[in-house]
Amino acid sequence: MEDEKFDCIIVGGGVAGCAAAKVLADNNMKILLVEKGEWTGSKNVSGGVLYGPTPWEIFPELKNTLENPPFERFINRRRLSFMSDDSSFSIDYKSQKYDNVPYNGVSVLRSKFDRWLGEQVEESIAKSDFAEDSFVATEVMVEELIIKDGKVCGIRAGEDEFESDCVILAEGVNSLLTRSIGLQKEIVDAKYVATGIKEVWQYDQDLLEAKFQLDGLEGVSNEFVGCTKGIEGGGFLYTNKDSISLGLVLGIKDLRDSNETVYDLLDSFKDHTSIKPLLKGGKMVEYSAHVVPVGDIDMIPKQLYTDGAVVVGDAAGLVLNTGKSIEGMNLAMESGRQAALAIIEAKKKRDFSKASLKSYQDRLSESYVMKDLRNFQGAFHFIHNPDMFKKYPDLVNSIMNDVFLVDGQEKKKTRDIIKKAVDESDLSYWDLMKTSIQGGLSL
Ligand SMILES: Cc1cc2nc3c(=O)[nH]c(=O)nc-3n(C[C@H](O)[C@H](O)[C@H](O)COP(=O)(O)OP(=O)(O)OC[C@H]3O[C@@H](n4cnc5c(N)ncnc54)[C@H](O)[C@@H]3O)c2cc1C
Repeated sequence: MEDEKFDCIIVGGGVAGCAAAKVLADNNMKILLVEKGEWTGSKNVSGGVLYGPTPWEIFPELKNTLENPPFERFINRRRLSFMSDDSSFSIDYKSQKYDNVPYNGVSVLRSKFDRWLGEQVEESIAKSDFAEDSFVATEVMVEELIIKDGKVCGIRAGEDEFESDCVILAEGVNSLLTRSIGLQKEIVDAKYVATGIKEVWQYDQDLLEAKFQLDGLEGVSNEFVGCTKGIEGGGFLYTNKDSISLGLVLGIKDLRDSNETVYDLLDSFKDHTSIKPLLKGGKMVEYSAHVVPVGDIDMIPKQLYTDGAVVVGDAAGLVLNTGKSIEGMNLAMESGRQAALAIIEAKKKRDFSKASLKSYQDRLSESYVMKDLRNFQGAFHFIHNPDMFKKYPDLVNSIMNDVFLVDGQEKKKTRDIIKKAVDESDLSYWDLMKTSIQGGLSL
């Protein structure tokens, strides 16, 4: 059995697990990546735009795939829309500065993208000294962690047991194993998680490119606020190669306390005047739902390591929500990379104890992951002000309506338009001032 012992077992073949496994295999470690789905990513749901350089650094092969990439489109146009029941106002930014590799963001369909990541892990394994002894095992569900003398030293899947010096828990938000060893609270409060629902609508590619004014591989991401009937959350629309991903992310606590259903909210979003025409000519081909951490730093365990194990990605609650987008995949990948680097160090020291694996948390604290999460916690609380989900989008649209209105009456000056809109809203000038100061300080 000692011969079969792995340096590291990674539980979960999502973006976090694949990133960790790739770094470990590239550094000649003997690994086992275990995924319960039919292939890595087969069960994964994401909106999803994968932001920043992290994926390009861990998987440099991405640069050689531009003719037929595993991602969908690079995002060089960002839109943020404020919706009221019958109108919407958008901030729209497009730049050629986002046209170059490593792209600022790429849209991905996870089942395809994560599958490619898994294949890259297999290629790295094949080039390592452990080509015959390291594996990517799919359709294997890890049921339990093996613990001896208080140290995690392997996994159990059905009748099979596999030993390792260390385990990386990359099992996603439904973190049963992580909770079983006390790294995550046994019951995660509903206020820390949201439910994401997503539809994929397919089009003829030329039609899609004409509809969204796309040239070549470029794509657009559009986030929406005010489309959730006052419930914490927002909407998204991302262009893929010949489809769009469209959906809502809704705070579970708020949703539970409301009388709304997810399906009605999604139908009403799709029926909105600025969405409905976009769906014409498309066909809904996929529907999925998944839970996602809301991005509250309080959900992140104080300690992300124990004797023989570390936790990464959604299982650790590592999601950044600044209001203009959700960043979960890049944080998951970066945490996977930092965990792998800490484990490579631990192997050199032959020490996989808690004290040694603490270096993972130290590394993560020094990386953009924890720096951004700490710096933007104020922003998280700012955008989770309940007024942001209805009253402010309504106010903005009421102002814009009068700004553009030509009704044969004497035109109003902007200050009078704003005064009228505020007087007619449920917001006071004090609310506006408080919000402006909070926004200024936190964003
Ligand atoms: C609707 C929606 C939209 C989103 N939009 C974006 C976006 O635009 N940009 C962004 O960056 N993020 C987005 N996110 C968040 C992002 O999807 C997550 O942060 C990211 O997927 C986390 O990656 P992960 O590898 O930690 O977990 P996951 O992607 O959930 O992967 C976990 C893997 O572990 C496997 N697994 C779990 N338990 C076991 C077990 N016991 N045994 C074996 N395998 C197991 C699962 O099958 C899965 O493959 C979105 C999320 C949702 C729900």
